[in-house]
Amino acid sequence: MDLQFEKMKVIEACKSLVEFWKIPMEHLCNIVIQNKKNLKKYKNSPAIFVNPFPTVEHKIEPGSQIFFIKLEKELVPSWSNPRESSVMLPTFASFENYWDDEILCYLYNEEGSKIPFILRDKENNILFNIDPEFLVNYHLYENYFIPKIPLYAKIPFRYHLLPAFIRIRIPGLLQRRHSAIKFPPWPIVQHVELIRYLFLKCIQLVTEKELAYLDFWPFKRKFAACLVHDVDTYSGVKNVSFLSKLERAFGMKSSWYFLSKGYRLTPTFLEWILRRGHEICLHGYNHDGKLAFLKPKEIDRRISYGISRFKNFIPSVRIEGFRSPSHLRSTKLMKIVAKYVDYDMSIPDTEILSQTAPRNGSCSIFPYFSNGLITLPLTIPQDALFRFLKTPRTQILKIWKRKTDWIEKVGGLTSLNTHPDNHFSGNKEGYEVYSEYLAYLSKKEDAWVTLPKEIARWWNFRYHCKIRNINGDFRVNTPNRNHKYKLTIKYLREN
Ligand SMILES: [Zn+2]
Repeated sequence: MDLQFEKMKVIEACKSLVEFWKIPMEHLCNIVIQNKKNLKKYKNSPAIFVNPFPTVEHKIEPGSQIFFIKLEKELVPSWSNPRESSVMLPTFASFENYWDDEILCYLYNEEGSKIPFILRDKENNILFNIDPEFLVNYHLYENYFIPKIPLYAKIPFRYHLLPAFIRIRIPGLLQRRHSAIKFPPWPIVQHVELIRYLFLKCIQLVTEKELAYLDFWPFKRKFAACLVHDVDTYSGVKNVSFLSKLERAFGMKSSWYFLSKGYRLTPTFLEWILRRGHEICLHGYNHDGKLAFLKPKEIDRRISYGISRFKNFIPSVRIEGFRSPSHLRSTKLMKIVAKYVDYDMSIPDTEILSQTAPRNGSCSIFPYFSNGLITLPLTIPQDALFRFLKTPRTQILKIWKRKTDWIEKVGGLTSLNTHPDNHFSGNKEGYEVYSEYLAYLSKKEDAWVTLPKEIARWWNFRYHCKIRNINGDFRVNTPNRNHKYKLTIKYLREN
């Protein structure tokens, strides 16, 4: 029998988690990872069984199904903070009761309910009482809330025509309305990374050997970092050179997301940005907040207008990235955007006071694939939020640094969006805070500071890599031989 086929047969569940880590087949060929409903244990094979998520009506009642994760010591990663490890479960989900086995991890809520999550039997087999892949995808693809069309998307004019002092009050009003909802945690949400880690750790527990996986970033860098800017108004266009100068002082480059309608742009100006080594991306059409909710034909017209406008200015330019104004998004928008660009940066890992939902986000600090696009999450809270909240400068820096330090420890992606517009970062205080952050980031020698398009290209490349065992040595099979990346195989060892 084909050995490869035989190996594949035992990995029925959690395929996307195996793919995320790039765990080599050699580690998996002796173990069984399958759904409990197909329970079949191979002779002498250690097993990970996964209870499929109960078929439930995915009714969402925010706040009512928040559970915290309690782990046995041997499973806790060094970067985990117990206060921030909560998950949301769909309402009406019920789980099997397995309190007789050794419980490695359970979930509990404020009402005193407990659910065993990961268990180990006497033969050292692991049981996931809740499908970890379901939990990851449930959060990653934001199925835990119902997006709403914001009020200002319904007004008949572009809301930027309202004076800035009115616009910046809207999120404050939203905050009062929705202060009861506490999920996902902000500014750090760690449970998707925690569940992914637990999956890898459990394979190690059953196989009792060190586990190889492909490092998340090339060139031996511990984490990736990028700087992006939304240019919402003409005042922002005028301030581009100043922000760019700040970055240049630290040898950094960034991506600029421009509207295709609403202010004046010239080929000379855009060429200047590209000559400096920056990237030009699309920030929708005119920032009226309606883009994500229009009829598909109109969305398509607006996106294709933007792409061709930049092409008309500079025929050689290729727009690879997109961010929707105010992060407002819909599946139909993303599917159309995927026809024109390679990656999207409209989705934060966790966000508060947003127009999409009071709290939302992919809950992950790693890129992922969605609707035919590579999604790079926005992971450092953007300047606009702090302007709405009137957060003092020292506090902004504290949050930015804390989040950056945490992402560095986990090895994810830091991405900071600052607006060059006068009412956001295009002023003395904004420049100072941004400059201080750049100074902080520049001291992190293990950061891969690069453009989002480079991160998206790398993530696509990594996706097509595989670790293989060649005569006892682990090697990486790459999609093409002439690549520029230096790749690293890492190992999860006991503790
Ligand atoms: Zn914007």
